Amino acid sequence: MGTVLHSRGVPIDQCFDALNRENPAIVAAIHRGYIAAGSDIIETNSFGANRFKLAHHGLDDEVAELNRAAVKVARDEIAKSGKEVLLAGSVGPLGVRLAPLGRVKQSQATAAFQEQVSALLEGPDTDDRMAAVDLIILETMPDFKELASAVTAIRNITSSIPVIAMMTFTRDDRTILGDTPSAVAKQMAELDVDALGVNCSSGPVQVLRLISALHEVLGDFPLVAAPNAGWPQQLEGGRVLYPATPDYFGEFAQAFIEAGASIVGGCCGTTAEHIAAMRAVIDSPSPSGEPKSMTSMALRSKPAIDERWTGPSVTAGARSLWRWVPSPWRSHSARAWGSSSFRPQTRESSSRSWRRPREPRSKRLSNT
Ligand SMILES: [Zn+2]
Repeated sequence: MGTVLHSRGVPIDQCFDALNRENPAIVAAIHRGYIAAGSDIIETNSFGANRFKLAHHGLDDEVAELNRAAVKVARDEIAKSGKEVLLAGSVGPLGVRLAPLGRVKQSQATAAFQEQVSALLEGPDTDDRMAAVDLIILETMPDFKELASAVTAIRNITSSIPVIAMMTFTRDDRTILGDTPSAVAKQMAELDVDALGVNCSSGPVQVLRLISALHEVLGDFPLVAAPNAGWPQQLEGGRVLYPATPDYFGEFAQAFIEAGASIVGGCCGTTAEHIAAMRAVIDSPSPSGEPKSMTSMALRSKPAIDERWTGPSVTAGARSLWRWVPSPWRSHSARAWGSSSFRPQTRESSSRSWRRPREPRSKRLSNT
């Protein structure tokens, strides 16, 4: 979202999250493009809408308003499209260093995430939970502790919202604190989330390597791959070019799936064309003639923030960046549920199906 906004003329130092209120049309047009490209999930324009980042723009008192506006602009585009697309609330890093490296305590980080996530889960209309997000995506997290704070924040509010958690890695395949992918995978495995993965980082080649490393540790646990469009090149005049083309992303969609990814997408420098290329590859028949994609999956129920909300669990939503794709885990769970459309799952039943089709993860981990 950020790099596309910038490519459409929004200055890089402008608050992208404020556009949900100041210029919703530009945000809506981007959502529309991703929906048209065949995304099964689109993300709200709320990556930096936390108290710490908004403070740079004097907007730290408007966390709730800007996140609710982000949900509204995306939800409206999904409704207009008439397609089954899910809406994910995008939550990025706080942009501050956590103790002991920095001054922000983990409790403060958790509080900031909780403030943002509460607004995403409430949406623009507190009487209509269906107007809120279907899941939360934690993305571009550089530090595992920060990711863990965000998960704690979500689970302090609700145990039922599905969560995708993604870390970003430096070019040498380490986190910014120096952790290896397998060390990170073991830590991430302890989080109460529904899918884990890698986004941003440098490009498809690296993310393929990282997903393979996560897969080794995590087995059939749902994985997500969403790389940048390669390593950005600085051009004359300050323009930034991301070199990876849509076709290149299409080829990698297949590779990510074979490496164990259940969801694929793109981050900085990718566009709706990249997603469309991935979509085409996912939808093309496999050599065995079996369709490679499924158009449905079950998620955990929508957040029950309070007892008043008793509606159905997952909407036919629309969003732009991601695609649930087949994996051994997925065909297993689909058969187990026999589901052909989105439908409510209780936390208990979906946890079993989602998490461990074969053996307890802890056992898996102890073997590695
Ligand atoms: Zn990125």
